[in-house]
Amino acid sequence: MASLAAGLANGAAVRHSNGSACDQLAAKFPGRTFSPSSDNYTTEAETNIWSLTCVMSPGCVFTPANANDVASAINIIRDTKSTFSVKSGGHMPVHGAQSNDGGVMISMTDINTKTLSKDKSVASIGPGNIWVDVYSWLAKNDIAVAGGRYSNVGVGGLLVSGGISYFGNKVGWSVNTITGMQVVLGNGKIVEVNEKENKDLFWALKGGSNNFGIVTRYDMKTLPQTAAYGGLEAWVGENATSVFIDAVQAFLESPEGIEDIDTEANPSITLIPGSGTWEPVLSPYVSGNYSASSPPSLVNFTSIPNPALNTLQGHDSWVNVPISVQEDNTEDANGQGQIFGCLSAKIAPGLVQLAVDTVLKPALTDLANVTDAFVAVSPEPVSTKFLTAARNSGEYAIDLGPENGPFVILLTTVTWKNSADDETVYAFMNKTLTNLEAVLTEKDLKLPFIYLGDAAPGQYPFSTYGNGNGENVARLKKVQAAYDTNGVFRNLITSGFKL
Ligand SMILES: Cc1cc2nc3c(=O)[nH]c(=O)nc-3n(C[C@H](O)[C@H](O)[C@H](O)COP(=O)(O)OP(=O)(O)OC[C@H]3O[C@@H](n4cnc5c(N)ncnc54)[C@H](O)[C@@H]3O)c2cc1C
Repeated sequence: MASLAAGLANGAAVRHSNGSACDQLAAKFPGRTFSPSSDNYTTEAETNIWSLTCVMSPGCVFTPANANDVASAINIIRDTKSTFSVKSGGHMPVHGAQSNDGGVMISMTDINTKTLSKDKSVASIGPGNIWVDVYSWLAKNDIAVAGGRYSNVGVGGLLVSGGISYFGNKVGWSVNTITGMQVVLGNGKIVEVNEKENKDLFWALKGGSNNFGIVTRYDMKTLPQTAAYGGLEAWVGENATSVFIDAVQAFLESPEGIEDIDTEANPSITLIPGSGTWEPVLSPYVSGNYSASSPPSLVNFTSIPNPALNTLQGHDSWVNVPISVQEDNTEDANGQGQIFGCLSAKIAPGLVQLAVDTVLKPALTDLANVTDAFVAVSPEPVSTKFLTAARNSGEYAIDLGPENGPFVILLTTVTWKNSADDETVYAFMNKTLTNLEAVLTEKDLKLPFIYLGDAAPGQYPFSTYGNGNGENVARLKKVQAAYDTNGVFRNLITSGFKL
């Protein structure tokens, strides 16, 4: 045993994880298995975890180079019955989604392949990529894929969640653009998954999270993309916030806004409870050449006077939008606590104000003493065009179509500094979601859908899959039983969004 432990990278002693999965990995992959005292472990298990609430203490971190390595790890994990977790970009702000205490963390960081089909219509991408690297590579060819809107979010997690991209009105969810995947199953087999092979698993993975296998390659349809408009515009103060809320409401109610094929508006109403400062922010992306004018779809926003920050502009290359947003984002939460929670609502007059009143106003008192807290409501429109494109792409587990919309996902985000405030923030989120659900229900605006990528710990997104009412849960469980025959993903991944 001592010699196995000595195989751990950097020579640090292993902490046993329900048997000896870490020891066996260290013996087989000495340069890819990291113990708690190593720098690589710290990078993977702490630094590259977005929310502080998600930093845990895995027994070891394993960084496979390819699908074969993943398969070897899964065989070891299964045979030793070790608990484990799968991390790609580390951004899901849900404790236990990508890490664990005492088990193996499989970090996909090094599976960051990027290849383009000959005709450039399909990009094959490793889950260890972050979106900005994928975008920088594709933009050189004047093409894009429908990935995340924030540069550092991981490919791996977003593409099993759903995916709200810049191109929703053209393609639906990001998962609706996937043409195939390579997946390592609990029995250690590496399988191709697409419309023809393992079709049920293909359906399930499009929204099914980590309940079925580990995806080691995603094939995504590309779309032509050259110039684009975007950046950040932010205002400060209650008056500007009031005008901004009206602008969001008008955007949601107007076909020239929500249904504009080229526009992803991305508005947020942010409050700093400690100082009582209101800061509405727009971070849009609009396809097309807007070097001389701003897009008509955003006119209600761009006409708001006296922004405190304005980097909105036309860019020759679309990749400069996410890059500039990343550079200018002063509210980068990395290294702090962050939590999401969401509900969905019908679009109706007064909705945005209702959400702000229900979520943000109570935060003024509830989070007043939470150090460096900021809380945001982000209305994320899901248009009829979005839902039509999603439906037309083929079957997918989330299974929403135009008959279910248009609607808006009301994402609440809280970011804060000290773990001493975790309980206060979690209590606030629970209370907020309960209150918001109650007021939406009372006004007949509530819709059941919960987006997995925006969900709070404790929410159960799968119960809304299939017409928004959970019709697909039974089928998801059947697929899991068929492909995860040893219960590796069902039992040995112990937290996150379990089926
Ligand atoms: C700042 C920020 C911005 C965001 N922006 C967007 C956005 O624009 N659009 C959007 O739709 N969502 C967005 N999200 C939500 C985000 O897409 C999800 O949290 C997503 O899961 C993150 O992926 P990741 O690889 O970074 O996360 P991770 O935390 O590494 O993984 C998330 C989950 O996916 C599982 N997983 C990861 N890789 C694999 C794999 N290869 N195979 C199987 N399971 C896997 C993990 O086990 C984990 O449960 C954002 C989140 C944050 C924090």
